[in-house]
Amino acid sequence: MRRSFFALVAATVVALAPALCQTPSGAAQPEKITWAIVIHGGAGGKGNTTPADQPLSAREQLIADYLKTGCDVLSTGGTALDACEKVVRAFEDSGKFNTGKGATSTGKGSYSLDASIMDGSNVGFGAVSSVKAIKNPISAARAVMSTKDHVLLMGPGAEEFAKDKGLEIVPPSYFNATKGKKGGFNDDFDEEDHGTVGCVCLDQKGNIAAATSTGGRGVVLPGRVGDTPICGAGTYANNKTCAVSGTGTGEQFVRHVAAHTISDLMEYKGMSAKQAAEEVVFKILPKGSGGLIVVAYDGEVAHPFNGGAMARGAADSTGRLEVGIGKAMRKAK
Ligand code: ASP
Repeated sequence: MRRSFFALVAATVVALAPALCQTPSGAAQPEKITWAIVIHGGAGGKGNTTPADQPLSAREQLIADYLKTGCDVLSTGGTALDACEKVVRAFEDSGKFNTGKGATSTGKGSYSLDASIMDGSNVGFGAVSSVKAIKNPISAARAVMSTKDHVLLMGPGAEEFAKDKGLEIVPPSYFNATKGKKGGFNDDFDEEDHGTVGCVCLDQKGNIAAATSTGGRGVVLPGRVGDTPICGAGTYANNKTCAVSGTGTGEQFVRHVAAHTISDLMEYKGMSAKQAAEEVVFKILPKGSGGLIVVAYDGEVAHPFNGGAMARGAADSTGRLEVGIGKAMRKAK
């Protein structure tokens, strides 16, 4: 009896070992998170209905693949900024999301790209807006941030700047939106499943970063700019608090300064990342606005949404690797 009790205790300790570690006083503590990443592929669309015991759907697998792209950077000591840029570039090149090559039509085959990136270590911010010829707007946003005295370039000026920086310039025919009625929508993805993309990361040095890239929210007035290139609206990062990337009706994120408000709630009200993110998504933003992803300075993550079925994935140094489209998250490989 006594022996089986000890065997049970030993088995329990072995089972919990990956998640718990001992402090000098002997008390069990959750394993410290040394890096973490959350990504999203837009807030529209239908939830996934694949049963939990079935393989991931094609769209879930795509999110898992991009998540692993970021994990590879972070787990080998790469920076949060590099991971954010690399993941978002992959989304931009895929043609399967409302970003880069796959940017949605804003009406009559036209399109307009916005992107931003933020470095939480020094609150550096860079963005481009209303560009049409830059293959990877997120890299142009990073180049703007690198100037240190500019935060947002738009239109032809931004394109000229990107060209001077050696970034790839592409003709309109590169973008799916110019190819007919279906606009930027790829055959194997529904229109509503075709979203803005974002990535937030914590790296092993304790730096956090956020990046967002979009083709906007569909047919809009010419010249419309949404939340993505606006610091504190669709993107924000500060090592003191968190990194945030939003997706949904950009006008609401701008009106409520959504991303920065999460940081403020953490800094001035002592909320956790999850509490602050849920306060903004469920109490401040109107229902149906969209959702956002957050990673905090301590690796805590959150990804609430208040409409549609946000496609998202989260991973960290403890072995977490999960994706979700709709309410539930599922383990990924
Ligand atoms: N927030 C983006 C915008 O309003 C669109 C989206 O995330 O779906 O430009």
